Amino acid sequence: GGAAITAAILNVAGAGDEIVAASTIYGGTYDLFAQTLPPLGINTHFVDPSDPANFEKEINDHTKVVYAETIGNPNANLIDIDAVAAVAHKHGVLVIIDNTFATPYLYRPFEHGADVVVHSATKFFGGHGTTMGGVVVESGKFDYEKSGRYPTFTNPDPSYKDVTWAKLGAGAFTTKIRATVLRDTGASLSPFNAFLLLQGLESLSLRVERHVYNAQRVAEYLSKHPKVAWVRYPGLADSPDHALAERDFPKGVGSIFTFGLKGGEEAGKQLIDNLKLFSLLANVADAKSLIIQPASTTHAQLNDEELASVGITPDLIRISVGVENIDDLLADLDQALAKL
Ligand SMILES: *Cc1c(COP(=O)(O)O)cnc(C)c1O
Repeated sequence: GGAAITAAILNVAGAGDEIVAASTIYGGTYDLFAQTLPPLGINTHFVDPSDPANFEKEINDHTKVVYAETIGNPNANLIDIDAVAAVAHKHGVLVIIDNTFATPYLYRPFEHGADVVVHSATKFFGGHGTTMGGVVVESGKFDYEKSGRYPTFTNPDPSYKDVTWAKLGAGAFTTKIRATVLRDTGASLSPFNAFLLLQGLESLSLRVERHVYNAQRVAEYLSKHPKVAWVRYPGLADSPDHALAERDFPKGVGSIFTFGLKGGEEAGKQLIDNLKLFSLLANVADAKSLIIQPASTTHAQLNDEELASVGITPDLIRISVGVENIDDLLADLDQALAKL
């Protein structure tokens, strides 16, 4: 997934170019944009994605990409992608959407204005935490000539027999990635991993259907529990994103979300230790239920200020609800909470 995102960015951006990104993105991508790309001359403006106008404020002549995730990691915040894409397209800027947490079963970003979609196939596609991979897909509709912002697409490329990538039409973006970025940087999937990911895709719809059913039940259970301080899941009626969830996610809003305990960070650690069925793991979207405290693990590379800007507090627990029987999951949470 990280390689897919990196390749997608390097495919359109170089020294002097800029990205406008939602601040609420996966920790690894945040670090790529905040730390790894700036020394290469690619700088990112992070914006609060809850208002599409915030993206527009940061778009300038150097902007090459508007970047967001359909369901934010870890807080499951939703973004009005249609509105963000409209803002980007008004300025001729390409929209790249990370659809990892939604999967194409729950949300199809091209139908909401995305030009390029990236996935970490490591998550729901494989589905069993056995395989790492990434995917880049394009809508084929972006007009590089009309935009005028992408000379590497509209001028002949001396690194590949002077081909003008934009002239390839619907396959321009992904052909350029394969022929240049992947050729030069080397990310590639082994045949066995490709086999495992394809096998995972065969049960994607069944798994995601069960994931979202279980997640909704777990979120409702936690939100009513006396030891739980808060739950952030757009499937709950009191979520600020509930209206967007109802509009854009009629089949459910994924199975990864966050909550906090009244006992704070320490109680959270104990809860994770008390659980028997949930595994303490940094992965998400596995068929098995997983749980973790991001401030000390997945987001440990961020400083306090950055943590606050991406919405992570020390007490925050991230849960990735699996496909087990819902009664077993609720019984496990019940016994673990009772011991606190
Ligand atoms: C895990 C993840 C990635 C990175 O994918 P890897 O396959 O682990 O490299 C990117 N985006 C999101 C939303 C993720 O959850």
